[in-house]
Amino acid sequence: MAAFFSFYRDYTTSFLNAEEPTACDLIADFGFNILWHPSLGLEMGENLQAMLWDCVLGRIPVDILVFEGSVINAPNGTGTWNRFADRPMKDWLADLSKVANYVIAVGDCATWGGIPAMSPNPSESNGLQFLKRQEGGFLGKDFRAKSGLPVINIPGCPAHPDWITQILVAIATGRIGDIALDELHRPLTFFNTYTQTGCTRNNHFAYKSSISEFGQRKGCLFYDLGCRGPMTHSSCNRILWNRASSKTRVGMPCIGCTEPEFPFYDLKPGTVFKTQTLMGVPKDLPPGVNKTGYAILTMVSKDTMPEWAEEDFFTI
Ligand code: SF4
Repeated sequence: MAAFFSFYRDYTTSFLNAEEPTACDLIADFGFNILWHPSLGLEMGENLQAMLWDCVLGRIPVDILVFEGSVINAPNGTGTWNRFADRPMKDWLADLSKVANYVIAVGDCATWGGIPAMSPNPSESNGLQFLKRQEGGFLGKDFRAKSGLPVINIPGCPAHPDWITQILVAIATGRIGDIALDELHRPLTFFNTYTQTGCTRNNHFAYKSSISEFGQRKGCLFYDLGCRGPMTHSSCNRILWNRASSKTRVGMPCIGCTEPEFPFYDLKPGTVFKTQTLMGVPKDLPPGVNKTGYAILTMVSKDTMPEWAEEDFFTI
């Protein structure tokens, strides 16, 4: 299984922290041959360039192309702002996508364009098959890799390392066909539930028990700190980071980084993590929640909050 990785440093750090399976397991147990990776690859300079051409011309088969980073097209569609091995990176990407059996976009930049693609997008950045929520992106809506699958999107800033390695294993073991994708091409196995699923602060959420400072141990981060756990699809509280914790468990709000609209910069300056509230009703409510009903529920919940809903779960 020959895989070509185009990663930057932050995703490499995440990827190398994978635990189930680890990056080493991919090689030792699942027979991965990492053709190239910016930190792990052996080829440099002219050797790398020659290998890239061998891949593009079919002399070296590429089973999986894993791409991270937005596709930079500036200036004026030339892509020369981001050159790699003596060509615009976007040209290598276009050629390698045609010969790879599977194409995987890792992280928000590769999936939806990410922060670089925010208006006014001076780098003319694009995601591989989406620009934000709009399907199309750099490779086009109809792109299919040689396997017949579209780009598999693993978003996040950064993406959880085990999401990456488990998808690679699913391909290596011939089980990728069992993993359905959602309408944004995200594997449902990781993105069919909200970040709130598995959060240890759900009791506090239900009874509107709020905290207003980062890192506080009891209370929900939704009401005053703008946690996006109830409206963000991810498994961060089901598949824990470092198999130990998550942002919400340590008192940091979910910032919604697996959704195409991330970052949510329409909030007031200086209130990046603050939810704007009106009569105690947050500006962004979970999907399908009626504002009036929510306001009534808030009053009732606060008035009926049992003692256990304010328990400090770190000490019990
Ligand atoms: S901290 Fe966030 S994810 Fe956890 S219960 Fe509150 S809103 Fe939901």
